Amino acid sequence: MASPQREGFTIPTSISHAASAQITNKSLGVKYNCAQCAASFSLGKNDAIRCKECGHRVIYKARTRRMVQFEAR
Ligand SMILES: [Zn+2]
Repeated sequence: MASPQREGFTIPTSISHAASAQITNKSLGVKYNCAQCAASFSLGKNDAIRCKECGHRVIYKARTRRMVQFEAR
């Protein structure tokens, strides 16, 4: 007995593409809030961890609400 419904498990290309786009978007920018001037901005992994408005180095991760502090060298 054949089971043609198995083909339904094939993931459409459009969905897998959207998923990978989401992952890419996630790794590109993390939202932060400045502890000094409360500016909200996003930083990439290669960006310096500092406020883009005032240059302050104490910023909050907007998503996790945990404080991320980087001391000056
Ligand atoms: Zn700031």
